Amino acid sequence: MGEILRLLDETYPKADCALHHRNAWELLAATILSAQCTDKRVNEVTPALFQKYPTMRDFAAVSQAELAQDIRSTGFFNNKAKSLIGAAKKIVGEFGGKVPRTMDDLLTVPGAARKTANVVLGTAYGIAEGVVVDTHVQRIAQRLGLTRNSDPKRIEQDLMAVLPREKWIKFSHQVILHGRALCIARKPKCAECPLNGVCRAKDKTA
Ligand code: SF4
Repeated sequence: MGEILRLLDETYPKADCALHHRNAWELLAATILSAQCTDKRVNEVTPALFQKYPTMRDFAAVSQAELAQDIRSTGFFNNKAKSLIGAAKKIVGEFGGKVPRTMDDLLTVPGAARKTANVVLGTAYGIAEGVVVDTHVQRIAQRLGLTRNSDPKRIEQDLMAVLPREKWIKFSHQVILHGRALCIARKPKCAECPLNGVCRAKDKTA
């Protein structure tokens, strides 16, 4: 594990969240929008969105139909609009307009499942409550032999067991970059991969 972490630090020293945001609410909203959508597309949509609705209260007040049109290009826009409005109403109504700082509270917010909660806690607040497991982390944890599970919750438990807690947040950022750059789902670029020497993946290409 130590060598994997060392190589990730060496290769992706500045890894951070790719979703543009200025505060915890914007990160939560951007993360909800990123479901089944690229971060790039979300980053194209959010500047105008946060200009039109500068605060959480603006999201709580808009109609679902209008918000859905504003986020149309991110896909699943009706569901996402419902989640955004529901999340804003919940946080304004029950948490005094402040995005909660605990996993238990965040999981009560519409649209925020464990992955989203981990993104918000880790990136907005620097709180390591868990490990973000998205499709890249899922695939690469398996390839690197860090888990034998395929269920994201179990993969997260496996990663929490093998990673030192101070790496929980950064590890996901690094692995997500690695998944985009080299360890892509189909035909990973193993010949160029700095982790080649420590990787025993069955679908290695070199
Ligand atoms: S060697 Fe290939 S499969 Fe293993 S981590 Fe690198 S890119 Fe991924």
